[in-house]
Amino acid sequence: MLLKSLELQGFKTFPDRTTLTFHNGITAVVGPNGSGKSNISDAVRWVLGEQSVRSLRCTKMEDVIFGGTPARKALGFAEVTLNIDNTGRQLPFDSDSVSVTRRYYRSGESEYLINKTNVRLKDINELFMDTGLGRDGYSMIGQGKIDAIVAARSEDRREIFEEAAGISRFRYRREESERRLSQAEDNLVRLNDILAELE
Ligand code: ATP
Repeated sequence: MLLKSLELQGFKTFPDRTTLTFHNGITAVVGPNGSGKSNISDAVRWVLGEQSVRSLRCTKMEDVIFGGTPARKALGFAEVTLNIDNTGRQLPFDSDSVSVTRRYYRSGESEYLINKTNVRLKDINELFMDTGLGRDGYSMIGQGKIDAIVAARSEDRREIFEEAAGISRFRYRREESERRLSQAEDNLVRLNDILAELE
């Protein structure tokens, strides 16, 4: 799956709307220390639904919003859009391109969009499940990730293979069904209690 472009606005070191276009082949980002190179990969991770502030190298989610400089005021929200090539229809949309957007306001409010339509975080997670690109996918290999995989418990390592084999989706659905079943059982118990009280 090819990434076509990344649009950032108000995200970490990118106060102004900035578009990075990726062409076929390798794209290298070069720049002095602290200039914001890693913030670009943080933006990709973030727009794909990352919830761990530690993996985003922040202490709280608000830290992803441009925090200001002596010359420039802090901003009120951060927005990142990732445009993905879908000419091969790997994603279930009948369009040559799929865009995913995440917005976060200082008030703590979040928004997620797919092709400019508001969705839930769950929809973003489900969209990328089994593609390797999602939040827990293996497409983003950060510093220390290989060591972490080698040192991981075998159950955790298995999840990476399940994602690559394209079966995470089924495990996720099974877990969701089990959760719903357990909720339904709880409701039944409650209902029986109420019925017993009425009798
Ligand atoms: P290195 O080559 O040293 O790894 P880098 O080019 O990857 O550096 P980053 O780690 O991406 O740099 O960026 C770090 C910079 O981002 C720091 O100067 C930090 O102050 C700045 N930064 C991080 N979050 C924000 C924010 N919310 N607002 C403004 N600047 C931020």
